[in-house]
Amino acid sequence: MRVRIFLAVFFIGVGSTLLVGYGVLGFYKNQSITSKISHMVGYTNQIANQMVLSGYLSTNNRQPEISAELSLAAELSNGRILVVDGNLSVILDTYRQQEGTTLISEDAVRCLRGESRAIKEKEMQRAKITIPLVNSDTKEVLGGILFIFSLEQEYSMASMLQQKLLLFVGVIAVIVVFVGLLFSENLAKPLKEIVHSINHITEGYMDEDVSIHGCYEITQISDSINGMLKQMRQLEETRQEFVSNVSHELKTPIASMKVLADSLLSQEEAPTELYREFLQDINNEIDRENEIITDLLSLVKLDKKNGEMHIAQVSINELLEIILKRLKPIAKARNIELVFETFRPVLAEVDEVKISLAISNLIENAIKYNLEDGWVKVSLNADYKYFYLTVADSGIGIPESAQSLIFDRFYRVDKARSRQTGGTGLGLSITKNVVLMHKGVIKVYSRENEGSTFTMRIPLSFIA
Ligand code: ADP
Repeated sequence: MRVRIFLAVFFIGVGSTLLVGYGVLGFYKNQSITSKISHMVGYTNQIANQMVLSGYLSTNNRQPEISAELSLAAELSNGRILVVDGNLSVILDTYRQQEGTTLISEDAVRCLRGESRAIKEKEMQRAKITIPLVNSDTKEVLGGILFIFSLEQEYSMASMLQQKLLLFVGVIAVIVVFVGLLFSENLAKPLKEIVHSINHITEGYMDEDVSIHGCYEITQISDSINGMLKQMRQLEETRQEFVSNVSHELKTPIASMKVLADSLLSQEEAPTELYREFLQDINNEIDRENEIITDLLSLVKLDKKNGEMHIAQVSINELLEIILKRLKPIAKARNIELVFETFRPVLAEVDEVKISLAISNLIENAIKYNLEDGWVKVSLNADYKYFYLTVADSGIGIPESAQSLIFDRFYRVDKARSRQTGGTGLGLSITKNVVLMHKGVIKVYSRENEGSTFTMRIPLSFIA
């Protein structure tokens, strides 16, 4: 990555300087050559007019001043001027070589046809101008001027500038190399640190926070990693706590069975009644173990998130009737009155098995943690968006300090009592999971020795 950043900086820095440099150079070269040629064309046209007006082409009128001026112009521009008459006879040659001879050249012939022209000869680094000498009244072509002049100065100026440009690019390249190295190092360093920290975490060092210094974005990445780490630690803690709770809960019935079996075995000739009594106790412990395992399995299934949801339109009223019918005998055994109050028929999109498990847990608890001759009131209501279920009881209530903990796995206010009533401490945890899977809310209001009220709010349409 460092190499790539460096190369990118280098190519962008040097490439753009070269591009801009050559662009400006090319423009300057063209501009200077074009302006020189057009200046020379203007000058030659002016001289041509002067020559026509003064009758320079006839031998008697040939003013020496014009000849001298042409010679000077040719000398100053490091060039050569030829003037021919209508018969292509050279009447002036600033080189004095061809005077008196006949000039047979394409340029001269074209000139006598009245064509004026200015061309640049790149290889020779010169320009050629041909201007016809025309009588403005009769439009007769009397002769012509051929002006060849050097563009060496313009070309050498451009090549000098090119050398300077290359030097400049060289300096820029050196600066860019330094800047590129510094930049790539600065950018890659925090990223390397991030990779290093992530590798460190992967190796199992989750207790240390990541601390990477850099620009705002890097600090943000560092904060995000720390946030993720915190969550991972919490998850790990919960997992460990859960595993130790599960082991403890599963070990308790086994320990009881072991004690019962040992005490039977230690007696040489125990009476049959004792055997029966102890076997009954062992049977109860097996039931309990079975109950814990069933609850744990329900919880594990729910933990597989929404993957296993079987959503269907369910009549909650009918569902409650079925649950209450099933629980009536348990309530009756303790002379607890079960009241069902419904305000309207409620149809909702829910997972019937799961929601029925959640509601059953609430009503079972209301019966379990109630007093003899008490009551449990279940009421159902709905608006356009949610249905509301309330399970109120006249039971023992929950101390305020425990109210936030009762939804935790294996939490029981009174372990001994809960054990007596067959509680595993997993019921409310299962209920809360089901409610959350339906994007609902569950709350508890309770006063010790007065009773508890659990309220549940579930959307009528399932939200995935
Ligand atoms: P358990 O299997 O022990 O009933 P739950 O998760 O269902 O486990 O409940 C957790 C604890 O919350 C119970 O052990 C009990 O102490 C308390 N609890 C739950 N429901 C009630 C209630 N209606 N009245 C009083 N206490 C309750």
